[in-house]
Amino acid sequence: MNIIVTGASKGIGKAIAEIFSAEGHTLLLCSRNQSQLQHTAEELASRYGNKVHYHAADLSKKEEVEVFGKWCLEIGTPDILINNAGRFLPGSIYNETEGILEDMIATNLYSAYHLTRKIVPAMIANKAGHVFNICSIASVKPYSNGGSYGISKFAMLGFSKNLREELMPLNIKVTSVLPGAVYTDSWSGSGIDPTRIMEDKDIATMVLAASKLSPQACVEEILIRPQLGDL
Ligand code: NAP
Repeated sequence: MNIIVTGASKGIGKAIAEIFSAEGHTLLLCSRNQSQLQHTAEELASRYGNKVHYHAADLSKKEEVEVFGKWCLEIGTPDILINNAGRFLPGSIYNETEGILEDMIATNLYSAYHLTRKIVPAMIANKAGHVFNICSIASVKPYSNGGSYGISKFAMLGFSKNLREELMPLNIKVTSVLPGAVYTDSWSGSGIDPTRIMEDKDIATMVLAASKLSPQACVEEILIRPQLGDL
């Protein structure tokens, strides 16, 4: 299968790319930093012997989404699209820096919206496909210091739920993934004990499992928290 993972150079995206690589699938990866992306792609290909294609792109920019999406379609019919690229900027709505909302919406929502519109028509033509949208617990629960990030993740879940309704009759599955805290670079330097929160592999394991059900079953939501609850 051809599996597209955005924001795949590290963190949750890399863990998802790794678990699908271990199953022998063809991966199509992106992130902004070309050298880190290349390093991840080469590491996975040499470890698992699968095909790992990569293309650096800033998905907060619509024109770069267009180019990345076109590149994906040229490689082959997409089977799974994982909209994972995202960024957390802390802040409070009432005093965060001007422009943060625009940045968070472009990075965490428009990226997925535009890429989905580019990729899904090929899935519809193929009468099969699966879209995973990496949302967050912050999609359903407000956080202090969440600011515009929280707004963007609520919007991402709204996007994902609407997409699920639309694609249901077209045989395309849509799964919203809502993780609580996962230890990635986003948390390094925070002083948090890595064993207090989840591993990126936990999210990847659930995504892989949801991708393997019978054609007539769709996991609509994966909501997963640290055993000790939110921080
Ligand atoms: P991470 O370790 O910082 O990795 C983010 C990935 O996305 C990197 O590959 C990054 O590479 C890429 N990326 C960032 N902005 C991009 C852009 N504009 N265009 C293309 N790629 C971009 O983050 P993570 O913690 O794994 O988070 C992944 C997703 O999970 C995000 O959507 C996040 O909101 C969500 N999430 C995370 C947690 C958590 O606790 N970690 C909890 C809930 C949800 P470049 O910087 O090179 O572009």
